[in-house]
Amino acid sequence: MKRTKKVIALALAVVSAAALIGCAKKETKKETIRFGTNAEFPPFEFVATNGVIDNFDGIDMAIAKEIGEHAGSEVSMETMAFDSLVISLNQGKIDAAIAGMTIDPERECDFSIPYFTATQVMIVKEDSDIHKASDIADKRIVVIQGYTGQKVIEKMGYPFQTFNKGNDAVMELINGKCDVVVIDSATAISFIGDNKNLKIVYDNDAFGAEHYGIAVKKGNKELLDKINAALTKLMDDKKIEEFVKKYGQVGEEEK
Ligand code: GLN
Repeated sequence: MKRTKKVIALALAVVSAAALIGCAKKETKKETIRFGTNAEFPPFEFVATNGVIDNFDGIDMAIAKEIGEHAGSEVSMETMAFDSLVISLNQGKIDAAIAGMTIDPERECDFSIPYFTATQVMIVKEDSDIHKASDIADKRIVVIQGYTGQKVIEKMGYPFQTFNKGNDAVMELINGKCDVVVIDSATAISFIGDNKNLKIVYDNDAFGAEHYGIAVKKGNKELLDKINAALTKLMDDKKIEEFVKKYGQVGEEEK
């Protein structure tokens, strides 16, 4: 009998110790900010073997990592179609979208403070006769599905074709199947790389400045405050400039 009691007491001690460890673990476990991106948008996000977050690299990925560190949280990164980002936010599948996303009040989400300024530009063949936005009225225009470039061209009233990936759009141009790709400045620079057959045409009068922000679900003030605090610090420390220099050149409008 005595022996049985001892065994029970021992078992109870083991169980409560395990429970205590479990609690302690829970307390120290960091929360995770689940980010979504569209890793088709260099130099902001692209897939790389040794990225800053898993196999994702680029300016936004470096920023997301810093936000996690600043907020004392883990970060996870998931890539999806650009158009799915805001939907996923609203479905609670991700907590924040970091994707070179232009702050646009028509998008169904809340945005952080701006962290980068861009503009739409036109990628054309080197020998193209396109010199300004109005020159593309009767050209074969390609935009990327759901990007602000599509919205801008829609507003201009020109017909266009959409592609899901910037890279595919540029291939279409290289293959002579379209005349112009309208896309964000820094990404255009990244896409043409050292391709001497392509050039970028700027028209700052036609294409206004766009400001990138990080998106959260409408009303998620708690996370937005953390993101804004981190972004403010990153900008004060000139870290974002550093990442921009590291991953790509800035567009003409930033010089
Ligand atoms: N800045 C553009 C937009 O918000 C494109 C962003 C992107 O493709 N990642 O629509």
